[in-house]
Amino acid sequence: MSNREPGFDTLAIHAGAQPDPATGARITPIYQTASFVFDDVDHAASLFGLQAFGNIYTRITNPTTAVLEERVAALEGGTAALAVSSGHAAQLLVMHALMQPGDEFVAAKKLYGGSINQFGQSFKSFDWHVKWAEGLAPADFEAQITKKTKAIFIESLANPGGVVMDIAGIAAVAKKHHIPLIVDNTMATPYLCRPIEHGADIVVESLTKFLGGHGNSMGGIIVDGGTFDWAKDNRFPILTQPREEYNGMVLAETFGNFAFAIACRVLGLRDLGPAISPFNAFQIITGIETLALRMERHCENAMKVAEHLKAHDKVAWVSYAGLADDEHHAMQQKYMPKGAGAVFTFGVKGGYEAGIAVVSNVEIFSHLANIGDTRSLIIHPASTTHKQLNDDQKAAAGAGADVLRLSVGIESVEDLIADIDQALAKI
Ligand SMILES: *Cc1c(COP(=O)(O)O)cnc(C)c1O
Repeated sequence: MSNREPGFDTLAIHAGAQPDPATGARITPIYQTASFVFDDVDHAASLFGLQAFGNIYTRITNPTTAVLEERVAALEGGTAALAVSSGHAAQLLVMHALMQPGDEFVAAKKLYGGSINQFGQSFKSFDWHVKWAEGLAPADFEAQITKKTKAIFIESLANPGGVVMDIAGIAAVAKKHHIPLIVDNTMATPYLCRPIEHGADIVVESLTKFLGGHGNSMGGIIVDGGTFDWAKDNRFPILTQPREEYNGMVLAETFGNFAFAIACRVLGLRDLGPAISPFNAFQIITGIETLALRMERHCENAMKVAEHLKAHDKVAWVSYAGLADDEHHAMQQKYMPKGAGAVFTFGVKGGYEAGIAVVSNVEIFSHLANIGDTRSLIIHPASTTHKQLNDDQKAAAGAGADVLRLSVGIESVEDLIADIDQALAKI
């Protein structure tokens, strides 16, 4: 064995996995079981008391899911990870571990539409309150911080607008106020950007998108960066107060730099319950093996489609950070120099009706609400994903009436360009 640190592509295929010790199966088996037999009564007691690591019940841990968790933790450069049933479940569990009733967190306005709803509406019933940063600059985030602020939440590459956030600048604000920075890395994936290297403390991701990569399985993940000092003060009681059900254990003391991942598992996942199915974990592990190849092609195709649209006379504007004159190009070069991702928006001349005409006439592109599939996808956010938002929120989220969002797939790019051209011709 050489002493080399394995490269990204090697980790994407091997991290967390080994031939099955029981059967020699080379591929990680799908451990499709709800529960696991104890060795004896003492073993059971130590598992339930968190004195030993092992499997009890698939809501909390599962060996197939564990491979997925170790793999994504390795790719993101975190200390541990927790896979759950969806990206939104990951966000819920992270906030559940950080927030007490009455607490606040600061979030970017440029976010996935579902996150805007989750934060602005559903979280209110837990008495957790989002404060939206007015702009994208670190100072806009700092301006919203109060004594009750327990987190800052951004997307590295924001959905749907192709905005690249200043992760290090916002991390500096978070550090100054001793608040964890959570970065949703769904659109960039660790292939394009590793937020923990830029100061993020926690990464969340929808595995449903590029990591799984084939549009066939829902999943989400929380990656613990191992960077945040929970015990510094008493603002995060879930991590610093003795847990009665675990014999007075203090999670931050016992689990050190992976205490956050443990808290999300043994409290959040245990009590809220959004476990991922081992079958979905298996599908996503398989998808991740080709993440680097797919992302390379996704980015290459997206760049060609963006350049083509920019020169098209029915297109008013294109927002893709990969374009040299795009306002986010400098940030893209800094945080994701290998590419600007597969998802971007453009505006059609003719507004709402023209947008509807394009999505109604594409043939290779699928009109649906997803991103990150091998297939090319298109949506008109104003009439679908962002329909619940008011006009101001739509504009703030980059989802105005003329906006179309593409998730450019890995098909032959000439076919994709021809498909968009014939749909634009029908406006
Ligand atoms: C899809 C998505 C989510 C939510 O993930 P689900 O797996 O659909 O729950 C969160 N953030 C971003 C950026 C997304 O694209």
